[in-house]
Amino acid sequence: MNVVFIGPQASGKGTQAKIVSKKLGLCHISTGDLLRGVKGDLKLKVDSYINHGRLVPDELILEILEKKLLGDDCKNGFILDGFPRTISQAEELDKITSIDKVVEISISDNLAVERLSSRLTCRQCGEIFNSVTNPPKENGKCDKCGGELYSREDDREEAIRARLEIYHKETEPILKKYDSVKVDGSKPIDEVLEEVMKVLEQ
Ligand code: AMP
Repeated sequence: MNVVFIGPQASGKGTQAKIVSKKLGLCHISTGDLLRGVKGDLKLKVDSYINHGRLVPDELILEILEKKLLGDDCKNGFILDGFPRTISQAEELDKITSIDKVVEISISDNLAVERLSSRLTCRQCGEIFNSVTNPPKENGKCDKCGGELYSREDDREEAIRARLEIYHKETEPILKKYDSVKVDGSKPIDEVLEEVMKVLEQ
């Protein structure tokens, strides 16, 4: 099964994608994580987009993504988290593979800003915490791998607003292209999970 999760920043799509991919034996591809993991000369270029909340050019992301999608890890299917983000990316994706389900995880802009300003990300494994609603057991340390927790450069209010604007303008129109099903992302993680699983089992 090939699945796409679409939602604004902090809708919880990364958290859900991690849990659901394990449950269903699918690979989880977060294009944000892939880009943050880029090393060497390319890193400076990639960071100059990410840190200001701007989209990385398609040719850059497509090359990284295609390798991963067609790799062995994803032979049972995948959950795409953070891609496609524009109509042109959706068209490119159609050329590479077919998509079975598109789940929209929706939250308001105000909730997105509230959640992102208190989000903590593990530098090592990418696990996400929230200093208010889901704090780590030990301050500044990841519960899962012990890695350092940090506040992402693009989780500043200015960059958050830029990312939300891009989401409404560029990403939301994709939903019309697919027969997507909407899930309320403002609920607790386990309730959202239940809804997402229902959609995928249909
Ligand atoms: P995310 O972790 O999904 O919030 O992504 C963080 C940042 O990575 C975005 O703000 C973009 O700068 C970049 N990025 C992630 N996915 C894409 C994509 N599909 N196309 C272009 N840029 C992307």
